[in-house]
Amino acid sequence: MAAAATSSPHSMLLHRPSPAAAVSSIRLPARAAKISCAAVAAPSAAATAPFAAAGERGVYNFAAGPATLPLAVLQKAQAELVDYRGSGMSIMEMSHRGKEFDAAIKKAEADLRTLLSVPDTHEVLFLQGGASTQFSAVPLNLCASPASPADYLVSGSWSDKAFKEAKKFSAASLAWSGKDGKYTSLPPLTSISQNPDAAFLHICSNETIHGVEFKDYPVPANKSALLVADMSSNFCSKPVDVSKFGVIYAGAQKNVGPSGVTIAIVRRDLVGNAQPNTPVMLDYKTHADNASLYNTPPCFAIYICGLVFEDLLAQGGLAEVERKNQHKAGILYDAIDASGGYFVCPVEKPVRSLMNVPFTMAKGADFEKKFIAEAAKENMLQLKGHRSVGGVRASIYNAMPLSGVEKLVAFMKDFQARNP
Ligand code: PMP
Repeated sequence: MAAAATSSPHSMLLHRPSPAAAVSSIRLPARAAKISCAAVAAPSAAATAPFAAAGERGVYNFAAGPATLPLAVLQKAQAELVDYRGSGMSIMEMSHRGKEFDAAIKKAEADLRTLLSVPDTHEVLFLQGGASTQFSAVPLNLCASPASPADYLVSGSWSDKAFKEAKKFSAASLAWSGKDGKYTSLPPLTSISQNPDAAFLHICSNETIHGVEFKDYPVPANKSALLVADMSSNFCSKPVDVSKFGVIYAGAQKNVGPSGVTIAIVRRDLVGNAQPNTPVMLDYKTHADNASLYNTPPCFAIYICGLVFEDLLAQGGLAEVERKNQHKAGILYDAIDASGGYFVCPVEKPVRSLMNVPFTMAKGADFEKKFIAEAAKENMLQLKGHRSVGGVRASIYNAMPLSGVEKLVAFMKDFQARNP
């Protein structure tokens, strides 16, 4: 097997806090000193182990989301958990209108703007309700009425869900569907049937379940030239020209943070036109006017996203992150394609996802089960395909270290040799 620790750490900014230093810097009030808290009083063996690189927590987590986070981010959050930067309280316990959280959310927004070169024409909003809530928020905000047409390109389960929800709040129609081809392809971008009267064209830039990813984006042919993208599962995995999009939205829990916060990047001129019966929490204007602090936001999730953004910037930004992602995905797809049909990725090569790699085994479902179980024994976890499609799926988001993919590839070769 390839040595797990040979690749360099992906996270560079947030250096490993010494567990001893982290514990001793925690200021507890005298009365609280007697409280027995395992995490503080007696750091576990795992917490004190000398981590050199992400992935050295003993397992590689291939989950599709919530997904693995950079180890350095978790360690920084751990060090700051009990006493956030000398405030004497956790960031979870303080007012979302206080100076500490205000600084944290502003820094998170500023760093995200830098990472994605978000132009001033666009708002950055930190929202709740998951990406699924955006399936209704988008048509409610961008369509004048439920009779307004909108175009949906359906390339997998998630854009299909978005399309179905949009039908409640717009006259959504199908610009293209990959259903007959079992969601393994995308159309040539010029052959999408677009309605010139549509309010927008909606795509899912990366289908998490089917592993289909746009490498380039369709040019919207509607009257306002509006393109909207659900980027939940490839957000911040590569540079994106944000100016091409009216709205980008993403649940954070794959590439940039924990579940609980959804990020929307919305062109400012689209804010303030919601249908009259739009719930206040779904109206982009509510959140744009209040700097994402209309109500209590998911403070801890936003804070973690901020740490991830710092980490991505320290890695050299999204061009560098994309380079690493291309390399990781490349060796996995190469291993599948070089297996002589033993492992099969059904997705057409030009649109294969860099983030979610689904594959099946020619020997059938029983062998897939055996593969997943044996991989788990080797500490490669959560490789089961989505319940709707079966098979195997390796989600290899930004925070999956190269060593995790190398270990998986070595295991695949070994498994094949043992089970010809
Ligand atoms: N869109 C995509 C592409 C997803 O992968 C997911 C979640 N897996 C969703 C939308 C729904 O996100 P949430 O669970 O945050 O509502």
